[in-house]
Amino acid sequence: MTDTKQLVESKLTLSQAAYRHVVESGLGYSKRIARGEIVRIVDLEGNQAVDTLFYNADDPSERYSSADTITAQGALYLTAGSELISSDGRVMLTIVADTCGRHDTLGGACAAESNQVRYALEKRYMHSCRDSFLLELARHHPHMSKRDITANINFFMNVPVTPEGGLRFADGVSGPGRYVELRAEMDVLMLVSNCPQLNNPCNAYNPTPVEVVIFPKGAD
Ligand SMILES: [Zn+2]
Repeated sequence: MTDTKQLVESKLTLSQAAYRHVVESGLGYSKRIARGEIVRIVDLEGNQAVDTLFYNADDPSERYSSADTITAQGALYLTAGSELISSDGRVMLTIVADTCGRHDTLGGACAAESNQVRYALEKRYMHSCRDSFLLELARHHPHMSKRDITANINFFMNVPVTPEGGLRFADGVSGPGRYVELRAEMDVLMLVSNCPQLNNPCNAYNPTPVEVVIFPKGAD
């Protein structure tokens, strides 16, 4: 596969930020982002996987759709210029800057079931992204549940599609301080699991913290 990734840096500086929050490795996190605001996710130490879902903040039955996003852009990976499309066919967010260059939206979130199938039976009880998503919903968004956990984005995660059409979890392509930045095109709820995975090389077997930075509407 030819590597056509193009890195796009942000014009925004941290002094313009309205909000900054470090999500420690292995934890869940959620935040409402208003239309026009820009959210930056920073891979502080590199090679972390940030499993992320987006919902219409006022009606979570409308949510990020991996299939519609891939179809609309005619490409498998997300990067600068990608529009994240909802299950109702609307643009939820646009990726406006990206210094990593490639983000997965095919591999899904790790779960007790996949840990068991992919790695070993006794891995079933290890902490997983699916658990972090559900715990975060139970704590802060109790009107949402299992049925709201759909195909997600894995920011900074490298899941190459092989020539045979398979998926492979490969060593990360990200590095310390790399970031992705998205402009909200509607009011959205962002749900994050800062992946606790210890069994595959996507995060170098070492989960690390990431930072969420929000810039106010009009900052760009
Ligand atoms: Zn995970």
